[in-house]
Amino acid sequence: MSEVKLEDIVSLAKRRGFIYQGSEVYGGLSGTWDYGPLGVSLKRNIMNAWWKSFVDSRDEMYGVDAAILMNPNVWKASGHVDTFTDPLVECSNCKGRFRADHLEGSKCPTCGKENTFSEPRQFNMMFETFIGPNSKVVQGGSIEETSATTTTIRSRSDDKLGSYVSYNTSDQVYLRPETAQGIFTNYKNVLDSFYPDLPFGIAQMGKAFRNEISPRDFIFRSREFEQMEIEYFVHPDQWEQMFEGWIKGIRMFLTQELGLPSESIHELEVPESDRAHYSKRTVDFEFDFPIGREELLGLAYRTDFDLKNIQDNAGKNMEYTIKGTNDKFIPHVIEPSFGVERLLMAVLSSAYRVDEQNGEKRIYLALSENLAPVKYAVSPLLKNKPELVAKAREVYDTLKKKHGNVMWDDNGNIGKRYRRQDEIGTPYCVVIDFDTLEDDTVTIRDRDTTEQRRTKIIEIDK
Ligand code: ATP
Repeated sequence: MSEVKLEDIVSLAKRRGFIYQGSEVYGGLSGTWDYGPLGVSLKRNIMNAWWKSFVDSRDEMYGVDAAILMNPNVWKASGHVDTFTDPLVECSNCKGRFRADHLEGSKCPTCGKENTFSEPRQFNMMFETFIGPNSKVVQGGSIEETSATTTTIRSRSDDKLGSYVSYNTSDQVYLRPETAQGIFTNYKNVLDSFYPDLPFGIAQMGKAFRNEISPRDFIFRSREFEQMEIEYFVHPDQWEQMFEGWIKGIRMFLTQELGLPSESIHELEVPESDRAHYSKRTVDFEFDFPIGREELLGLAYRTDFDLKNIQDNAGKNMEYTIKGTNDKFIPHVIEPSFGVERLLMAVLSSAYRVDEQNGEKRIYLALSENLAPVKYAVSPLLKNKPELVAKAREVYDTLKKKHGNVMWDDNGNIGKRYRRQDEIGTPYCVVIDFDTLEDDTVTIRDRDTTEQRRTKIIEIDK
């Protein structure tokens, strides 16, 4: 278990412009989060590190960016329409709804009454919406519009709206609950355009949506989140060896690229009884979050389940032919599935540090240079000395042009600036003083050690 408290992370994230509650000004929307200026940078840096490690620096990887709205047959064939469900129970006293497998004991977490839960019902987590001009929401139960296809009326009297919704079943689509299916549906396209040798992988990052029964624990369980997934296509004889390779590769990425402590990462061999029916092996990577040890990401061997499903349902051949042979088969798939929010929460909570400097408590984020939203903060020692400000602007402009993630900071005294930059994880603060005007040297202060050294402007990056 991490020693950092979740509320400290949430409070820093809000205070310093990383993450805000979604639609906060209107009272919020449960399970949604907005990224502020620093959160956007941190999240992008994590995503870029992932793309660089798993796509750009490898020869056998191909990227795609599929549409979020997909033909509903995708989700029928994949099994999501029938089985992408969580068990839902309702408290007969307060009407609170909960995920049955997340409840501890028989007491309702909202009203505290014992033994008030209904029998679990399966609740599908996909968000539905309607495509095209034929579908329309009607308040009060009358049908305002129909189309050539069947219109179905569904009672919604069990929810708070107390109204009816008219919809065309043929217009119904889903917000994708995972990015994986957008990869499988493009497997044949990539094959036709590039015909790569096996093994090869297709990667995608992007939004996914799940109507979680109880979103909770900050960004850990959200209703709208971001995934980074790879489908790695292999010869069926090679899956075991490839799977082992992925375990090592994932661990290396987490520790070396994201700087997560190795001892906080745990590999859980998921027993057959808990695995999805198509998976022959699943390893969950768990992390010691402030909320306890929980799933960070998953690695699954999905056999030929998905491609075979597409072949059967879409009627398109998904076979792969080894070049120069007649050896045809449907490739098997290994799927590493990362959640960006969970990585971000792991990064924030493992970087969060508290120490004491000159008798005062200091909070800082020990983010690695490649993840820190701001790499350099540049300040004139005094903001009312035009010659210092002009020189500092020169240094700032040069660094900004080169790195982009450089911040101008002349608010308050130097001590306050350091504290502020420490809290957002800026590795280096560069200060321009009167000596700079004489010898073109600046002070660089290191976030973690707080040590200051003097260096030539042209050597700041060294
Ligand atoms: P859990 O058991 O925690 O609900 P899962 O096993 O359903 O997760 P997968 O379907 O394997 O999750 O999704 C792959 C990854 O996507 C997860 O490991 C996680 O990082 C991320 N993820 C899934 N659901 C959410 C969510 N509601 N909010 C944030 N990230 C999520």
